[in-house]
Amino acid sequence: MQTIQLNDFKLQWETVRQDFVDCVERVGKSGYLILGGEVAEFEKALSHFWGIPHVIGCASGLDAIELGLRSLDLKPGDKVLTTPLSAFATTLAIFRSGGQPVFCDTDESGLIDLDLVEDLLMTNPEIKFLVPVHLFGHTVNLKRLLELKKRFGLKIIEDCAQSIGSKSFGLPTGTVGDLAATSFYPTKNLGCYGDGGAVLTIKEVFTSKVRSLRDYGQTEKYQHSLLGLNSRLDELQAAFLRTALLPRLSQWTERRKEIALRYLQGLNHPLLKAIKIPEGSSSCWHLFPIRTPQRESLKKWLALHQIQTAVHYPILIPNQSVFDHPELFGKWEVRGDLKNAMALTQEELSLPIHPFLTDTEVERVIEVCNDWKETP
Ligand SMILES: *Cc1c(COP(=O)(O)O)cnc(C)c1O
Repeated sequence: MQTIQLNDFKLQWETVRQDFVDCVERVGKSGYLILGGEVAEFEKALSHFWGIPHVIGCASGLDAIELGLRSLDLKPGDKVLTTPLSAFATTLAIFRSGGQPVFCDTDESGLIDLDLVEDLLMTNPEIKFLVPVHLFGHTVNLKRLLELKKRFGLKIIEDCAQSIGSKSFGLPTGTVGDLAATSFYPTKNLGCYGDGGAVLTIKEVFTSKVRSLRDYGQTEKYQHSLLGLNSRLDELQAAFLRTALLPRLSQWTERRKEIALRYLQGLNHPLLKAIKIPEGSSSCWHLFPIRTPQRESLKKWLALHQIQTAVHYPILIPNQSVFDHPELFGKWEVRGDLKNAMALTQEELSLPIHPFLTDTEVERVIEVCNDWKETP
């Protein structure tokens, strides 16, 4: 029996190989390797796909969040409200931009709890920045986010690394924040063959600053008016993304949705349930997260039956050991008890949901889960 993997890059390669070879040939012949026509064309294509007018390619999702925050004129020490349950990069970008993360709890779905956000904003008028994360592909309520943004004059970067193609009440993620950040890390729904990311925005005013910051803060060649980064997307990745990967993304997302639906219908073990889908959320199903009070037992059972799983995430960000050394990097705050987020670190498990799973494999995952005999 073959292991059912969380991602299958070999099968993906078979599908995209010829297009990739063509890209290598095209870029090689063009003589342009960094920030040339391919990057510009990809930025246009992603803008069209996502429905957000301005896209700036960069080197990673981490950088995209930093570029977004810095283009909003975050000052050293400014507080940035965010979630404790995410990839570490979300918080790292806040620190790197000079901000002070303020963590508050998530709701049952693992997304930053907007009721708590509202309370905190009412009592802490000094908080002006928010970085919400559309975790798993499930969406933070964008109607509510827009209300909060207007009411409190909030500046928002949406972390859309896991939510390409997701909608909240019909609105694509990334359209409420001032800017949005996404990642093309290989495991993401639109994953390239290396590292990459993009900043997206509906507001043209931010674009020149982001473009400058991604390239050492140059405004023109050898003219530096900002202290920027080296965060450029290269021509090869842009070519792969535009001509080999993006054209397949809708179909891949449809397959993820089919698998999710099958899991939602088929899973019936009493100790296991899908993570609650937030109101209004139409997910791109980056992950298929379930929760169970006996996570380690289920994880072992699935491994025994050759089914890979992962935990998103086993440790809350403010509990990472780097926080034992605040003198190295600055200050942060935890507001409230983080109990929902903490429960998820103990109960969440992600089942395979990549688009190359066969129907037989999907049924096998369901069957093995339903047959699970818990061991203490
Ligand atoms: C992957 C990810 C990032 C970071 O993206 P990189 O390209 O790996 O830097 C940030 N936030 C979330 C939610 C992610 O899943």
